Amino acid sequence: MTDPFVIVGGDAAGMSAASKCKRDDPDREVIVFEKGEWVSYGACGLPYYVKGEVETLTDLVSVTPEAFVEERGIDLRTNHEVTAIDREARTVTVAGPEGEFEQDYGDLLVATGAHAVEPPLDGMGLDGVFTLHDMNEAAAIRQYLGLETPTADLPPTDAGAAASEYAAAENPEAVAVVGGGYVGIEMAEAFAAHGLDVHLFEMLPHTLQPFGAEAAAVVEDHLREQGVRLHLDTPVDGFLGEDRVTAIAAGDVDVPVDLALVGVGVAPNTDLAAAAGIETGPTGAIATDEYGRTNDEHVYAAGDNAEMTHVVTGEPDHVPLALTANRAGRAIGATVAGDPTPVGEIAGTAAVKAFDLEVARTGVTDEETAREAGFDPVSVTITAESRAHYYPGGAEIEITMLGDRESGRVLGASVVGREGVAKRIDTVAAALHAELTAHQLSYLDLAYAPPFSPVWDPVLTAAKVLDGKLDG
Ligand SMILES: Cc1cc2nc3c(=O)[nH]c(=O)nc-3n(C[C@H](O)[C@H](O)[C@H](O)COP(=O)(O)OP(=O)(O)OC[C@H]3O[C@@H](n4cnc5c(N)ncnc54)[C@H](O)[C@@H]3O)c2cc1C
Repeated sequence: MTDPFVIVGGDAAGMSAASKCKRDDPDREVIVFEKGEWVSYGACGLPYYVKGEVETLTDLVSVTPEAFVEERGIDLRTNHEVTAIDREARTVTVAGPEGEFEQDYGDLLVATGAHAVEPPLDGMGLDGVFTLHDMNEAAAIRQYLGLETPTADLPPTDAGAAASEYAAAENPEAVAVVGGGYVGIEMAEAFAAHGLDVHLFEMLPHTLQPFGAEAAAVVEDHLREQGVRLHLDTPVDGFLGEDRVTAIAAGDVDVPVDLALVGVGVAPNTDLAAAAGIETGPTGAIATDEYGRTNDEHVYAAGDNAEMTHVVTGEPDHVPLALTANRAGRAIGATVAGDPTPVGEIAGTAAVKAFDLEVARTGVTDEETAREAGFDPVSVTITAESRAHYYPGGAEIEITMLGDRESGRVLGASVVGREGVAKRIDTVAAALHAELTAHQLSYLDLAYAPPFSPVWDPVLTAAKVLDGKLDG
């Protein structure tokens, strides 16, 4: 048996692991099997590609397949799907253009990502009803919108054939976005930029659930100002139409639309691993230890298919985001190359642009989750200026910060405003990793100059107010 490091999945987690392992141990054979055409692509940029701010799908690729092979010495094989893992024999079964074959491994990384959840709604199969999780879907949506789409972007798949049909169809004028998560909000902006009437449906009372009700309410006011018609607290029943979607049905209302984007979350791709007896954890994603190892010491998992430990609760959590995947992949690459490196913990730090607003969150932002994790939560919401009050161009920033009454520790925050939001959330994220109390956070030495913040940065102000309330 040979000893290659075999990786299933050629995006954020997989290619980070491959690159790091090869860099640290150039003699190790590293083989990556990717079932699609694209590798090392930034799915996070897809809404901006549909919007037109990113011109081509290839702009989203950070390293080309050729560079991985020629410059980094990685044996990368696209259009190769791993269909089974035999842990006893330490082999994987691969289906590729040359047929099916077995590949030995010494260490295996399952980096298969996640897929968009397709809820069991009537009419999900109609033309014009899309999810958005991969490059091909983004190209098909652009085609359906009647927008110019570079030929190189068109997928060589069924979606590609359908996309060419769409090119001949009438251009849509109204779109239903189902789901008020970050993909739904980013896509609402993208569709509005092309002049469509945008209806956004959310079954819960608020959009952006992980960002907290306060931040969501500010975003919702802004969405309405931008002409987005919000249907909150409104579960969708399905889509109407013969072949092509013509309306969305929700309760007593049918709203005419000729395009729909369903963005109700993602689910981890665990089938391949689970069929080989790799265990999943309480979230349904693959359970891993601090080095990204599964219940088999030769099999690792990282990225959107894997659980990570939450830095505040200490519990396994599943927050499928890009840095988490890149970071865990890189750490596993180092471990496999002989330098045991923990994958790190997660705080669920995330930021979203909603038209002219920025919104971000980190840690635990709702009291119920904090209580379930054994804390006695106290929360404050403050409003401050993003720049010195006399310096032109500033805007209000609203911060909601949560702390624990007993320990005084900061548990999380959400931030919303027109500028400077990401700068603020990253400070709080660092405080969470360092387990700072509100008092300690309020005394950090943060940058100040009039164009960037008031003397007391809004994060310091929020921490001061929280500290006072925790003491009270
Ligand atoms: C529209 C959109 C916007 C996003 N925006 C953000 C953002 O703003 N910020 C952020 O942090 N994150 C964002 N994300 C999430 C981010 O893209 C993911 O967290 C990241 O791509 C996860 O990387 P991964 O390597 O775990 O999985 P993936 O990127 O899903 O890659 C997994 C790869 O495995 C391949 N594969 C699966 N099964 C097999 C198999 N059996 N054999 C061979 N290959 C296989 C797949 O084809 C795929 O290429 C966004 C995602 C989407 C879809």
